[in-house]
Order: sequence, then C-alpha cells, then structure tokens
Amino acid sequence: MRIPFDNSYARLPDRFHARLPPTPVKAPKLIRVNEALARDLGLDPAALAAPEGVEVLAGNRVPEGAEPIAQAYAGHQFGGFVPQLGDGRAILLGEVVTRDGRRRDIQLKGSGPTPFSRRGDGRAALGPVLREYVVSEAMHALGIPTTRALAAVTTGEYVFREDALPGAVLTRVAASHIRVGTFQFFAARQDVDGVRILADHVIERHHKAARDAENPYRALLEAVVAAQAELVARWMLVGFIHGVMNTDNMTVSGETIDFGPCAFMDAFHPMQVYSSIDHGGRYAFGNQPRIAMWNLTRLAETLLPLLAEDQDAAIAEAQEVLAGFAPRFEAAWQSGLARKIGLAAPREGDVALIEDLMQRMADNEADFTLTFRRLADAALSPRAEKDVRALFRDPAAFDAWTPGWRARLADDPDTPEARRAMMREASPAFIPRNHQVERVIKAAVENDDYAPFEALLGVLSRPFDDQPEAADYALPPQPQERVLATFCGT
Ligand code: AMP
Ligand code: MG
Repeated sequence: MRIPFDNSYARLPDRFHARLPPTPVKAPKLIRVNEALARDLGLDPAALAAPEGVEVLAGNRVPEGAEPIAQAYAGHQFGGFVPQLGDGRAILLGEVVTRDGRRRDIQLKGSGPTPFSRRGDGRAALGPVLREYVVSEAMHALGIPTTRALAAVTTGEYVFREDALPGAVLTRVAASHIRVGTFQFFAARQDVDGVRILADHVIERHHKAARDAENPYRALLEAVVAAQAELVARWMLVGFIHGVMNTDNMTVSGETIDFGPCAFMDAFHPMQVYSSIDHGGRYAFGNQPRIAMWNLTRLAETLLPLLAEDQDAAIAEAQEVLAGFAPRFEAAWQSGLARKIGLAAPREGDVALIEDLMQRMADNEADFTLTFRRLADAALSPRAEKDVRALFRDPAAFDAWTPGWRARLADDPDTPEARRAMMREASPAFIPRNHQVERVIKAAVENDDYAPFEALLGVLSRPFDDQPEAADYALPPQPQERVLATFCGT
C-alpha cells in the first residue's frame, strides 16, 4: 500500500497543528471504497479494499509517507466565538497530488481523540458517516465544489450518544481543510505572522492568481468572496441547506464542507430549516447568502493587518472587497434561476417573473426539485403542464403564472429543444432526499444491510439523467416519510 504523499500543511510551523496518529479501532470492516475517486488520486482501489488498505482507512496503520496531524482552528458557532476548536475527531494523513496537478488532503474523520477534542470522544457514528458519504458524493455529481468521500469503514466499536451506535470512520478528500476559522485561530492570538504564513499557503494552494496582484492579500480575499458567492448560489439553485454555516465549516477553497444537519429541500419554503439545533433559523435556506457574507466579514477582519499598514486604509480595502459579495451572489443566483425557467438571455424584469413562481411554490408547498425539472418538459410541450400543476396544493396558482411565462419564452432566442436541454442541465431529477438518506442509514444501522446505500449512490451519481427504473427516488416523501429535522453529525 503506497501512497505518494507530499504534506505541505505538515511542513507549516508547529502551532498550526498537533502531530499524532489516529487511534486504532477494534475490528475494522470495509463498507465501501470510492473506486473512481481512488483512481483520480492515483491510488489503487483494490489495494485500499484489501486488509492492509482497510487498516489504513480505519486508522489502525499509518501508511508510509503520512505525517498525521490534527489541524488547529477556531470559529464562530451560531454567532459566538470559540477561540479554539480544531480537529477534535479527524486526522489529516497527508496530501497527494493528482496526475493533473491538483493537491488533495486525505483525512480520516472519526479517528479518535486529539488535543482539540475537548470533551468529545473523537469518534463518528455510522449514520452521519453514511449521510456525509451520500450527500457529498451527490453534491459532486451535481457539479458543485465539495469535499468528497474516498471510503467508509465500520470500527467494530460503539459510540455513545443518546444511544449506543455503531462507530465508523469516513475518509474525506478535500482541496484543503483550511477554513475561515483557521484564519481566526491565529488572528485571535494576535499572531499576525501566523495569519501571513497561512494566507501565503492558501494563495499558493488555492488562489494562485492572487500572487501576482498588486495587493496579494486583497486579491486573496476577493477570490474567497467570489468562490463563496458562487458556491452559495449553486447550493440554493438545487435547494440545498447547509444547516450549520459556522465559520469553522466554511472553506477558503470554496468547497462545501461538513455535512452535518444539512438537507435538500422537498417542498419549497424560503425559510426552511432542518437542523434540530438551529432554533432561530439563522441558517435557514434563504439566510445563506447573508450568513456567508457575515462569515466572510470575519475572514476579512483576520486579514486587516495584511491589507494595509494603516488600519483605516485596511478597513476601506476590506469593505470594498466585501461589497462585491452581494452583486456576485445575485448574478449567479439570478442567472441560474433564469436557466431553470428556460431563459437563455435573461433581462431586467425576469426577476419578478421568477419570484412570482417561487412565491406560488412556497404558498402551495410545491416540491422544489420536481417543479423545475418538470417545467423543462412543460416548456417544450404545454401538455406536460399537468405534471407541474399537480405539484401545487392549489394547481390554479401555477396556471395563473404560465401565461406570463409563455409570453416571455416566446421572446427568448433558444429553440424549444435547446431550451429544454438547458433547463434539464440546470435542474436535476435526483437529489439525496432526506427520507431516502434516512432509509439507507436505517437499513445499515439496524440490519447491517448496505444494498440500499449502494443503490442510492448509484442513482445519485447521474442526477441529471432520467432513470426510469429509479423513478421512486425522484419522488418527495409521503407524509409519514417526511423528515422534519436532521441532527448534527457528532
Ligand atoms: P462540527 O459541529 O462537526 O463542525 O464540529 C465542531 C467542533 O467540534 C470541531 O472542533 C470538531 O472537531 C468538534 N467535534 C465534533 N464532534 C466531536 C467528537 N465526537 N469528539 C471530539 N470533537 C468533536
Ligand atoms: Mg465542522
């Protein structure tokens, strides 16, 4: 089992991390290796699935060349600052560089206690591991930047939450695990050198173009703002609610990270919340851009000493960059929505048309994913409108919207066939619906049955294809299947 590690983060100064190996588990057993991702990383999937590979994936054996570390970070959790969080149940084994030159972290999550664990046990339960596996891989298949799942194993041990639950370890792959909270860790200690070293590392690793800018740190902030504006728009265009957008759960690479109480919406509502711990609706669907902006403001604060010598000048720089968030988000969100209703050449006034539809969807509990997906067929053939209107509690609410829509479509340059194709590329048929994810977890946890997990992953790997044999996976939950809250992945 040879992994060609090149560990740039482990080479950073000691205060960036704690060096320690994962804690071995009793009886590791493979659930799954992500073969395509393994090959992407230049790893042999068969070797990973062999007994020695499974030992590595469980943390029982540290492969040659790994330099296992827990990364230090801080963060605002639900608005309150915690100066020290860090990897309390994850170990970064190291980094590999893919054949096309992309550097990727390989991290074990659920791999035992670290100096950052505080009172936690350092472990992960099987359910949240499967949830993260399914949702992160679905996100990837949707074309949205995200951390990924290379493998999952069970540990043969129990973790104790409200109940005793089977334990598991997820192998997570990411462009990096550097968070807004990583910058906050050093800023909170007035460690400007630390912030600078981290910023230089991030520029080199994720935002190389910033290196040649007149003010590289301003350019870095601009790049993160742009990446996050784009990311949040793309989440929302597929109905995704992250659920716990704390600053320690926001990357500077622009990848989605930490799939805890996340969920894709079924019935559309702009203030939908799933997290059982998000009482105020801080991280509700429609609040996500505002919260991203709040988090990015915290990032900007950490960079102030690097932005200019004079503090007022630094604040002015930061404010200018932050002001770019809203227009970037709006542009990405509105052009994405325009594609979803079939407009290739959006223009002023379209926003009102889109907002009118979404208000009607919200008032009528219309399924977010199916409404837009079926709208593609309705755009081509008015006879297919019946399948959209059936999603509205009061179908007349949809009917009242269509004349204005049809009039606008008639004025758009696309051919009807090209329009339908564009709409289908903007609106998936399959998302990881909560009730399906819960069903898969239940089968695994209660019956040691992973066939539903495998089947769901297969369907979600082709979210934009009609898969007639998998039609059930596209459907919203029956009332008794509805999942009202999801729980933090601890
Ligand atoms: P999260 O809510 O998963 O973003 O985690 C927030 C912080 O709590 C991070 O510092 C985690 O490492 C830590 N944490 C979460 N679960 C555990 C656990 N079971 N044991 C130790 N630390 C944990
Ligand atoms: Mg986290």
